[in-house]
Amino acid sequence: MHEYSIVQALMAQVEVEARKYRAVTVEKVELKIGELSGVEVDLLRTAFETFRERSICARASLEIEVVPARWSCPSCKELFQAGCRLQCPDCRQPAQLESGDEIVLQRIEMEAA
Ligand SMILES: [Zn+2]
Repeated sequence: MHEYSIVQALMAQVEVEARKYRAVTVEKVELKIGELSGVEVDLLRTAFETFRERSICARASLEIEVVPARWSCPSCKELFQAGCRLQCPDCRQPAQLESGDEIVLQRIEMEAA
């Protein structure tokens, strides 16, 4: 499943960070998930529960911030929300996706030895 490979990649990233700071446990992992990223947040949580066992994240909680899709005009930088016509009414430029397709490891809380 898509979400499983994402969690595996994120966990690998967390482990690299934890090693860098000589952390013994990870307390919290915060993610930013764009609503257009194609990630099912519920599936991601399930995948996290599955993979965190026997990892440095075994006791970590998972916080997910869903980032709404936003588009902007490349010329005047006007912002558009989902549901709008994706063309700037002033410049006639097609709007570009500004945010909403990201999968970001935002923050890791960990405890050092
Ligand atoms: Zn514009």
